Amino acid sequence: MNVFVLNCGSSSLKYQLINMKNEKVIAQGLVEKIGEEISFLKHTSNCDEIVIEENIKDHNQAIELVLEVLQSREHGVIENMDEINVVGHRVVHAGEKFSGSVLITKAVIDALRENIKLAPLHNPANIIGIEVSKKLMPKTPDVGVFDTAFHQSMPAESFLYALPYEWYQENGVRRYGFHGTSHKYVSERGAEILNKEYYDLKIITCHLGNGASVAAIDHGKVIDTSMGLTPLEGLVMGTRPGDLDPGIIPYIMKERNMTIEEVDQAFNKASGVLGISGLSNDFRELTEAAEKGNKRAELAIDIFCRRVKKYIGAYIALMDGVDLLIFTAGIGENAVDVRAKILSNLENLGIIINQDKNKSRGKEIKISSDSSAVDVYIIPTNEELVIAREAKKIIENNIKNLIIDILNENN
Ligand code: AMP
Repeated sequence: MNVFVLNCGSSSLKYQLINMKNEKVIAQGLVEKIGEEISFLKHTSNCDEIVIEENIKDHNQAIELVLEVLQSREHGVIENMDEINVVGHRVVHAGEKFSGSVLITKAVIDALRENIKLAPLHNPANIIGIEVSKKLMPKTPDVGVFDTAFHQSMPAESFLYALPYEWYQENGVRRYGFHGTSHKYVSERGAEILNKEYYDLKIITCHLGNGASVAAIDHGKVIDTSMGLTPLEGLVMGTRPGDLDPGIIPYIMKERNMTIEEVDQAFNKASGVLGISGLSNDFRELTEAAEKGNKRAELAIDIFCRRVKKYIGAYIALMDGVDLLIFTAGIGENAVDVRAKILSNLENLGIIINQDKNKSRGKEIKISSDSSAVDVYIIPTNEELVIAREAKKIIENNIKNLIIDILNENN
């Protein structure tokens, strides 16, 4: 079975074609600057790497071009569309509707539309991707895999805010959590590496990228995560502040005569380590600047690390311990000094780091010392593989159910 994984953003899309027999990536790529004068398609397969520059006016044209390249005589990896057995779509927000992946029907698309208000930046592009895929590949089933789904196991004590209860009942205000496919992948992979039962472990996963979140996974179930109704809550991020005193909002609106849209924009684009440093949201630049004596860059990194440490401590308390602590995503996999800072002085919690091993970047490796009670690992994330596995599972289950229905009808 070949799964075509599609991740549509507002002006970009990423794709992978994965052979599920061996879980090998046959081809992958991305289209950037959709709708702008010059757009790019970067496509890589086993045998070549190409960049196509042209005006790609919308997602329809972008997906058409990708499908063309996948089948082309020069760069193609498949003979025809029949070799794509299922399309797996990344969808950011499923609200409370879906706690797992689903075969996409018209009713599912309608439900996703209802969630646009919860993820106005992401869900519209995800829905366009699904509609275009249905149009261009009408015979191929589509499966939706949701960023929020993995966190649906959280108990009400974790997902409810201390706000008027009607806000939850009538407006859906609760903590949903994001990066679910990444937390799922690295936690399951971690159990596999330790050769232990997933359901026996207490795991904390730190997805530290431009967007960042932590999850506490207790015996196979997420019991808390740092992101909330939107991806603004929790950790300090590249351009987002994470946890805040809500009193800041009316105060700053009055003080600086700002509109709610301007505040929202500042929270999404101008805060986090960028806001503190006034320099960059990129940890490579911040580290370099801090090393050259830039105090605000240093402070931004320190504030980021302190927040992650605070969540790790809180989640150890919630689970009454932790067996496995995992770092993933751009910063988690690569930023050696950031990991060292987060993990410093945690000996009393059973976490001791091997400083040499912690110098590793971007590969699966244990970075805790042998005397550490808690295993600490870097595990590069692979959200596309989770989406492909989920898509395969949903299709196989549907075929199985169909056969059972036919057998029942015939009996
Ligand atoms: P992601 O959102 O997972 O792609 O992560 C992006 C972030 O990872 C970038 O903003 C960088 O701050 C960070 N990053 C990537 N590579 C490195 C590296 N070699 N050292 C430090 N930070 C890195």
